Amino acid sequence: MGRYFRDIYISVFTVLKGMYVTMLHFFSKSVTVQYPKERLEIPKGSRNQLLNIIEDCIGCDQCVRACPVNCIYMETIKSFEGDELGETSTGRKKSLWIPSFTIDMAKCCFCGLCTYPCPTECLIMTDVYEYSKHDRNDLIFEFADLDPIKAAELREKDAIRKKEKEAAKLAKLKAKEAAAKAKAEKEAAEEGKTPEKKPEDNPDKKTDNSGEENS
Ligand code: SF4
Ligand code: SF4
Repeated sequence: MGRYFRDIYISVFTVLKGMYVTMLHFFSKSVTVQYPKERLEIPKGSRNQLLNIIEDCIGCDQCVRACPVNCIYMETIKSFEGDELGETSTGRKKSLWIPSFTIDMAKCCFCGLCTYPCPTECLIMTDVYEYSKHDRNDLIFEFADLDPIKAAELREKDAIRKKEKEAAKLAKLKAKEAAAKAKAEKEAAEEGKTPEKKPEDNPDKKTDNSGEENS
């Protein structure tokens, strides 16, 4: 019988205790935020969505090299004679075209390492944190603003320039080899000897792998 009344007492007491705690909170100041109607202020230095102020980007590649997950992709083309690329807002001369500057925010780990080495401070963390998407491809952000037709022209011109440079390099190498050969022949002629011919100079004479001559 005593147990019966004790159980009634405990039940009533715990309900009243719970109601007391609830009543206390009912009159105290609310600490919850009614997101998204209400938003807390983002702390200074927080890391959110990245932004490249492309007008100030000089294409130095430092952010790309600093990124530990390789989620920054940049394409640069060296300017051509007569190109006027202008300056950054801090007066730094630009010498590279930037046809593409992409950041894959789906891969980004928000370490912020890319922002520190940026010499023009154009790569920054913004306070934008609400950019979730259904498709992860929508998290790839392109910052370059170069006209695609202009970019295609520049790529074509750059490919020609590279080919010309390669051809010039090859011609220089060949000229160097020819000069060295002529010099060797001249020295040999002066000494009254014919220069010893190398096996590769005589296609009729071939050697097998054992070093023996084949006729
Ligand atoms: S914050 Fe880190 S992971 Fe994200 S782009 Fe910059 S360096 Fe790469
Ligand atoms: S470090 Fe800055 S200036 Fe250099 S490529 Fe990256 S964003 Fe551009």
